[in-house]
Amino acid sequence: MTKYDNLINGEWVSFGNYNDNVNPSDTNDVIGSYSYGDASSVARAVEAAQAARDSWANSTPQARHDLLDAVGNALAARSSEFGALLAREEGKTLAEGVGETMRASQVFKFFAGEALRVAGELQTSVRPDIDVEITREPVGIVGLITPWNFPIAIPAWKIAPALAYGNCVILKPADLTPACAHVIATLLHENGCPAGVFNLVMGRGSTVGEAIVTHPDIDAISFTGSVGTGHHIAEVCGKMQKKVQLEMGGKNPMVVLDDADLSVAVSACLNGTFFSTGQRCTASSRLIVQEGIHDAFVAELSKQMQALKVGDARDPDTQIGPVVDEKQLKSNLEYIELARKEAGEVIGGERLELDAPGFYQAPALFLGTDNSMRINREEIFGPCGSVIKVADLEEAISVANDTDFGLSAGICTTSLKSARTFKRRAEAGMVMVNLPTAGVDYHVPFGGRKGSSFGPREQGRYAVEFYTTVKTSYVFAG
Ligand code: NDP
Repeated sequence: MTKYDNLINGEWVSFGNYNDNVNPSDTNDVIGSYSYGDASSVARAVEAAQAARDSWANSTPQARHDLLDAVGNALAARSSEFGALLAREEGKTLAEGVGETMRASQVFKFFAGEALRVAGELQTSVRPDIDVEITREPVGIVGLITPWNFPIAIPAWKIAPALAYGNCVILKPADLTPACAHVIATLLHENGCPAGVFNLVMGRGSTVGEAIVTHPDIDAISFTGSVGTGHHIAEVCGKMQKKVQLEMGGKNPMVVLDDADLSVAVSACLNGTFFSTGQRCTASSRLIVQEGIHDAFVAELSKQMQALKVGDARDPDTQIGPVVDEKQLKSNLEYIELARKEAGEVIGGERLELDAPGFYQAPALFLGTDNSMRINREEIFGPCGSVIKVADLEEAISVANDTDFGLSAGICTTSLKSARTFKRRAEAGMVMVNLPTAGVDYHVPFGGRKGSSFGPREQGRYAVEFYTTVKTSYVFAG
């Protein structure tokens, strides 16, 4: 069994306490054993970052560009290998695993360019002979806490801007997916990342995560994960006056109007609801369908859903991989049982026993639901979609916005007027027209409103807001 260690101060460090990383497609397959740290490991990483922070903050943009560009190139060159590892570790299909690895590569290369484009402003003062200069500086040491559902892309879209803008990093990946984070750490190390600038501390959220959030010398926290953990982190960071950025759940609506192109709508909903095993914060979990197209839409979507091949993530024919672990599968099955009580009808949703022992579930569609049901208010995070029938666009918008969340919202329509109305009135950070609610570009802002997100947006040029702090300087030249 290969053992994997933590990266602290440019060295691979073992804390003992090795934990097996198990393949959700086949629980007999153990990917490796990962050394988990604790609060003292975080303290060591912070010491290393403190020693490195001044020189990294003052490093040339060219040096930061070259490091990020090299990591981006390495991810692309080995995307088949890392994509297969991702599929094995998290349960995404091979195609999704390779696609996510390529996305991580693009993110690194985008921020390699951004490292060269850190700009400020020069303003004339309201007073004579004074210039006012507005510049951006790194925040300092940032703690990055990431979930299991995008195990290479989410660490990438936090690490790359953090380093591009001159911060030092301490990353704690999700307990379930240390391997992909270890790949990024290895690539940073192999491509000359200076000691202490990037540190990987693996371990549990309750120990390592908590130690990162509460460490007084960590200046900012970027977190993606559940609402409960996010609220806890916000509370601690608020008291400690730490900069904080939270990306949490979604209960994303996809509206299908009578005038929609049926094949476009079904394809968008099939992808948005079930692909990546529904384990995306941007998944379309509420399908809000106008009554005229309802029956045809349900017939076609359920037919295509039932034809999806659920199987081992590493099999190229698989379209829906396993659920990430037993706990998540149990939670999905509980929601499906609840849907049987709350909704009119449930199609699919059974636990599947395949050749290898894994966490397999048939995709599920809940029919005859209304927006007040728990299945339509709580994030399920599995391959499950609810259909809510509505009379018109006005009711569709009202149902779409009647949620605690506000990450992504979609509409399928051939009416420019309806699309425009929805785009303007949807209470969401991202709006999709004739596209799945999931699936975004890497060079534009990502994030939501209401209960979904807190703090500045991630990704694209907007990432500069979180990973830098602004300084205003006055120079008297009289
Ligand atoms: P968590 O919020 O528990 O985990 C996200 C990250 O936070 C992990 O790295 C976790 O570590 C860490 N963490 C946990 N507790 C603390 C803490 N007290 N202080 C600091 N860090 C902590 O989510 P889960 O991964 O357990 O998933 C649970 C649910 O969250 C899912 O079913 C889904 O509904 C939602 N979710 C939403 C995501 C999104 O993108 N919106 C992504 C993932 C999950 P560890 O893994 O070791 O527990």
